[in-house]
Amino acid sequence: MHEMSLTEGVVRIVEEQAARHGASRVKTVWLEIGELSSVEPDSMLFCFDAVARGNPLTEGAVLQILRVPGTAWCMDCSESVSIAQRFDPCPQCGGHHLTVTTGDEMRIKELEVE
Ligand SMILES: [Zn+2]
Repeated sequence: MHEMSLTEGVVRIVEEQAARHGASRVKTVWLEIGELSSVEPDSMLFCFDAVARGNPLTEGAVLQILRVPGTAWCMDCSESVSIAQRFDPCPQCGGHHLTVTTGDEMRIKELEVE
């Protein structure tokens, strides 16, 4: 399951940031997941519980997932448009000269620590 390795990566970043802030425990992690990414939020929640448990820093931490809608820049329209899938055509002109601007990323937005 590719969410498991992604989750391990997230927990590693959480550990680094918590250490930098001198935190002893992480209570909440806000994770942004773009709607165009192939990451399944439900799988991330499941894996996070499994990875966080047994780690004194993240034991009992809550993962809050924020979905980031997909947007792209259409070169033909010279406008930013909304897309639901990565290889969708432009909803305005039907063209494929799109560059994804948001929605394909996954990043930690915020941490609540003690
Ligand atoms: Zn267009």
